[in-house]
Amino acid sequence: MSLSSTSAPAKLLIIYTGGTIGMAYNDATGALIPMDFKEIKYHIPEIARLGCEFDMHAFNPPMDSSNMSPDIWRQLANLVYDHYSAYDGFVILHGSDTMAFTASALSFMFENLSKPVILTGSQLPIGEIRTDAKENIITTMEIAGAKRHGRAIVPEVCIYFDYYLFRGNRTKKNSTEKFDAFYSLNYPPLAEAGIDIQYNETNIIRPASQPFAVNARMNADIAVLKMFPGITPNAVNAILHTPGVKAVIMETFGNGNTITAPWFIDGLRKAMDNGIIVLDRTQCDGGSVELGRYETSAYLKAIGVTNGNDMTFEASVTKLMWLLGQGYPPDKTRQLLETPLRGELSEK
Ligand code: ASP
Repeated sequence: MSLSSTSAPAKLLIIYTGGTIGMAYNDATGALIPMDFKEIKYHIPEIARLGCEFDMHAFNPPMDSSNMSPDIWRQLANLVYDHYSAYDGFVILHGSDTMAFTASALSFMFENLSKPVILTGSQLPIGEIRTDAKENIITTMEIAGAKRHGRAIVPEVCIYFDYYLFRGNRTKKNSTEKFDAFYSLNYPPLAEAGIDIQYNETNIIRPASQPFAVNARMNADIAVLKMFPGITPNAVNAILHTPGVKAVIMETFGNGNTITAPWFIDGLRKAMDNGIIVLDRTQCDGGSVELGRYETSAYLKAIGVTNGNDMTFEASVTKLMWLLGQGYPPDKTRQLLETPLRGELSEK
């Protein structure tokens, strides 16, 4: 089960995109600067003892993940595709800010994934004494190379951070300062690293037997309407009628509730009559949308708003972009939004 077990050592591709993790002190100036990742063994000499082989692919220049985009997701997906047969697993070092978006986007772009693709990063740069980068990288490499009976134990796109492995499209960054910066409130962790790494195998998706493929078409013509008490018709209409927008994620209260003022309901109905898809997603990080549970969502169901169930915001954004990118008719897009495609939402 470990990297150095029975057969050949695992071979990993480490893709370094940037983010805090890759910073080290410049000996001359003392300032934190992006490090040349060829120096990874200098900063983490322990990886020589992991019993795996690895190659590095570094973005040049490294990027802050706030500048992430569908184009770069496409590049990452194709990078994995181009090297798929040569490696047992992939480690993506990524800034934590948009890591959950990238993990979600990749999960939709990959079809029939049978190898681990694990994103990690850190809260403190690798060059800091108290850095969390070391543990995050070492354990991510161990999990990315872990096999049982010759097959990857975790053939999913995941995020590993601070001793927990989560399904990527269920994960959310929830702290800018704690080492446990991510959580997954609606799905259990896929593994927990203690003295041993305990895999939660019943919750891990088994791969399909069809060949791996990448479908990286995305369409970013979406907008977000976040509800708050006192929101004005001008603000709502500006979002619902944003030129070119094909779908709106409506971030609602509690179980999917909104205000019931006639101007609001009429505005939604008009937008939907014009072909806009409206996806109802709760502002709460835990729990799900239940249209009709309260009167304040019953009418949403009646007018055909799509139920975002327990999807994260990150999964909702990237799934919508991906579905729009496929060019499906709106009815099929709405139906697939409510259907689990990569374990991103729970069966009703
Ligand atoms: N701003 C950084 C980024 O997301 C933060 C981090 O790496 O954690 O790239």
